[in-house]
Amino acid sequence: MPFSDFIGNPETVDRLREMLARGHFPPAVSLAGARGSGKYTLALMLARAMNCLERPMPSRNLESPSLFEQPPLISSEIASAATSENSSSSSALPDFCGHCSNCARIAVAGDLDARFAEAVEARENLRETDKKETRIFVQTHPDVLVIPPDPPQMMIKVDQVRHVIQSIYYRPAEAREKVYIFTSSAFMKEAANSLLKVLEEPPEFATIFLLTENPGELLPTIRSRAMVFTLGALAVTEVEGRLAEMRPDWNPRQRALIARLSEGALGRALSFDLESYVAARTHALALLKSALGASDHSELFKTTESYRPGAEGREKIESLLRTLYLLLEDVMFLQSGTGKLVRNTDIQGELKKIADSTDFAWVRRAAEGLGEVERGLRRNLIRSLSLDAFAAALEPGA
Ligand SMILES: [Zn+2]
Repeated sequence: MPFSDFIGNPETVDRLREMLARGHFPPAVSLAGARGSGKYTLALMLARAMNCLERPMPSRNLESPSLFEQPPLISSEIASAATSENSSSSSALPDFCGHCSNCARIAVAGDLDARFAEAVEARENLRETDKKETRIFVQTHPDVLVIPPDPPQMMIKVDQVRHVIQSIYYRPAEAREKVYIFTSSAFMKEAANSLLKVLEEPPEFATIFLLTENPGELLPTIRSRAMVFTLGALAVTEVEGRLAEMRPDWNPRQRALIARLSEGALGRALSFDLESYVAARTHALALLKSALGASDHSELFKTTESYRPGAEGREKIESLLRTLYLLLEDVMFLQSGTGKLVRNTDIQGELKKIADSTDFAWVRRAAEGLGEVERGLRRNLIRSLSLDAFAAALEPGA
């Protein structure tokens, strides 16, 4: 039963499947949740459940075996039976086989990073004039279109939405339901306005998924036309348990750390780059210690000098800033007696030293200083300079 492979948020998943069972799937669904919470995985599972050619029979003996056939002929008794037996009804809800030709082709889109990279590379190889007019899509089934943000701006562009409009009103060729998945809610203004027009008059045989880390980023007029489902964070213990099954190559200490750092998003935990994180954290710690006068400044300058301008340097400094915020939060947890919330458990001793030698006001000043560095970054100030200024501003007595 492939939906059983989806980890976490069982109530949300069941509600979506119940709507499928009743044949009342909304024309637009927004799946909201943190990076790595499973939004895309779930959208592709629903696309397969809508279009599977060999749907597994429900294991419960419902009166009508045609529960999931099109058009849906469901008596109100059956519909309510599917919802009222919450604890045991999952197996009676629509599922997908995972191996029919529709399931198999849709599944190829599952590795979004790889498919996206292929599409970008294909565009790179076009003639200069065609390149400008080509937008990035991922399509592994004629009736299922994935629309990722288009580089280099990494926004959904109006030409992408226009392409959706051109095809969405034609009946599906090989599927029962056409599916469109927008993987980001960063829409250019004109693109958002075009999308709105589709949402106002959606065809009955198409479903649009809008994936978003923050539903507030969608235009209110778009949000109001989509049904929003949120994938909440998993408990740290649950993530840790899953990692033990799925990543036995990581040691328990690594798994414990990653479970705490991935903020309840299993997808993020599974793809966590611990090595880069630890590298950024080493720099972040050096910066904090230097600020406290615990180490000599030459070390700090060596560190910040490696943060050079350019795309790579920018990425590096952004991950440094994120790590600094995390460390400051951990320091705050220790200062406020809630040490069990600390995420960087493996360096708790060092964090405790920082917590003991500073106070709340210092942490607040540090967080403000980081905000300053971020603003400088947006104005493209020389990175190392603003980092040094940040550290200097935190010295005792500053
Ligand atoms: Zn199938």
